[in-house]
Amino acid sequence: MNRFAKLGGLLGIAYCIAGFVLVFLGWNGAASNDSASAQFPYLISGGIAGLGLVVVGAALIVAHSLRTDRVELRGSIDDLRSAIEHMSASAGTAVASTGSSAGANRLAGTDNVEGDVVLAGAESYHRTTCSLVADQSDVVAMPLEEAAASGRAACRVCNPGGDA
Ligand SMILES: [Zn+2]
Repeated sequence: MNRFAKLGGLLGIAYCIAGFVLVFLGWNGAASNDSASAQFPYLISGGIAGLGLVVVGAALIVAHSLRTDRVELRGSIDDLRSAIEHMSASAGTAVASTGSSAGANRLAGTDNVEGDVVLAGAESYHRTTCSLVADQSDVVAMPLEEAAASGRAACRVCNPGGDA
């Protein structure tokens, strides 16, 4: 945390305290006068200026704590990001292994009630076992029918939807 950020927090607290003092002085000044017309200037100057200071001070404190939190958050976000990257890498492995077991099921003659799942890229779709998409991270798993209906072309190498 730099010096300016620290000053912002202290300044905010000082503004709040000064604001409360002004409100108190305004209240006190108003109470020391008997006539309502004499109380008004005190209430207005002390009260409004005091409230203004409290609001500004609170804003400074909020801005200060946000800045401090951000520094602390940055480290956590980096940890989180690497954890997510690790998780999506594991998920990719899971999808790949699901694909091979689905292939094994097909070979064994088991009915595939959900239909074939393919990996769709920007312009074409592939079997989950296709080597062309094995290293690509921007492919999406979707049903074969959906990939074909989306206008993507079937891969000529792995021929999804056709005979293996
Ligand atoms: Zn392919």
